[in-house]
Amino acid sequence: LFVCFEGGEGGGKSTQSRLLKDWLESEGHRVLLTFEPGDTAVGKEVRRIVLSPQTGELSNRTEVLLYAADKAEHVDTVVLPALERGEVVITDRYVDSALAYQGAGRVEDLSGVEAVQRWATRDLRPHLTVLLDVEPAAGLGRFEERDRIEGESLEFHQRVRQGFLDLAGRDPGHYLVIDARLPIDEIHELIRARVVGLLGQ
Ligand code: C5P
Repeated sequence: LFVCFEGGEGGGKSTQSRLLKDWLESEGHRVLLTFEPGDTAVGKEVRRIVLSPQTGELSNRTEVLLYAADKAEHVDTVVLPALERGEVVITDRYVDSALAYQGAGRVEDLSGVEAVQRWATRDLRPHLTVLLDVEPAAGLGRFEERDRIEGESLEFHQRVRQGFLDLAGRDPGHYLVIDARLPIDEIHELIRARVVGLLGQ
């Protein structure tokens, strides 16, 4: 079973992915919790480049390819091996982040960004994507220090949010969209209720 958490900054992806992992383990499942960008040696370097404010402006295409390199390494060396071992894999961000940030956010040709991501990930798709939908002004307010992307304009983050919602609207059967303002335990319950029906995949 392959589950992704997606959404803008400050929506609680890491909290909820950890709660899901803990619950699945308490039910006897083996679980790998991972994230993008940066959960491989190469990925760490990519993360440093794309997120450091010192990097300054990057060509959109460069940014797309850097994130895609992180994904290729992540899928080949972390995600696929764990799925082959029969583990549940939970990732904090995946392809939708690229489509929302580099596609909708940067207003880059979405089909091109998508083609690159699909190639980089061997078209490995999650069984479920949990979208924690958060109003950008609220989500970003949680951080004092901002990385290169978090420092983008509110309009950028609004396009990103809409990008995520459009992806969910395109394929509702594979998404669970949750209002990130709900209490943490309520969100966790909603996720559990959906994941229960998917176990065994
Ligand atoms: O989820 P996390 O906060 O670790 O994400 C790191 C940063 O990378 C965030 O600022 C996010 O906006 C950015 N990001 C991005 N494009 C992606 C994936 C992440 O701009 N494809």
